[in-house]
Amino acid sequence: MHRESDARKKIGLFGGTFNPVHWGHLRPAEEIREAFDLAQIIFIPVHIPPHKKSDVVSAMHRFNMVKRAIRGNRFFSVSDIELTRPGKSYSIDTIRHFHGLTGGEQHIFFILGRDAFREIYTWKDYPLFFSACNFIVMDRPGMLNIENEHLLPQDNTNKFTPNKNEECFVHVSGCRIYLYRVTQLDISSTVIRSYVRNGKSIRYLVPPAVENYIIDQRLYRC
Ligand code: ATP
Repeated sequence: MHRESDARKKIGLFGGTFNPVHWGHLRPAEEIREAFDLAQIIFIPVHIPPHKKSDVVSAMHRFNMVKRAIRGNRFFSVSDIELTRPGKSYSIDTIRHFHGLTGGEQHIFFILGRDAFREIYTWKDYPLFFSACNFIVMDRPGMLNIENEHLLPQDNTNKFTPNKNEECFVHVSGCRIYLYRVTQLDISSTVIRSYVRNGKSIRYLVPPAVENYIIDQRLYRC
């Protein structure tokens, strides 16, 4: 496992829609923080243009739910950087922002699920990410049948070398993509939203503070 003795702060950036945040986000984040000795994991609700997905609640609600979900965990925080940035918001700009606060690319660990990582080729300037930060790709139920080698975007595979000891791929820049097995919790925001819509219980799928917020604010009813 990655345990450099480096005085500089290693931080995890965990981007997601968080519509809503659930235990399937929180428990894996906790496990990753411990395993990689991260000083902090920053949850970053991403900006979703209103026309893009009709069932995404406002940025304010998604931010508020994460804030409530992580309360009491001193290693977790939430950033509104992608929600307040004027104009279009791109993850590469977020990473550049955090470079200034850490020791640079080697100290940033971008956390995401296998399903999201497979879509990375759709991100703006995606090849730049591989030299701008490390990645921690977590397993997610239903996504384990994809061979690790097939996770890398095809036009970039020649830039990586597999490192079996560390269970990662090393980019020519020195940044790494770690594949990490987290406790498999088969929970998704999609299922939670559909349960709320159908009047079903969401208890034990989300933290109580998030459940209460959804009820109080009457979210996801239709
Ligand atoms: P939706 O069902 O609306 O697509 P989601 O449950 O996938 O949402 P996101 O906010 O899109 O949640 O996820 C943020 C990140 O967390 C993504 O990288 C995703 O792969 C990862 N993730 C979400 N749920 C899980 C889970 N149960 N286990 C591991 N990773 C997860």
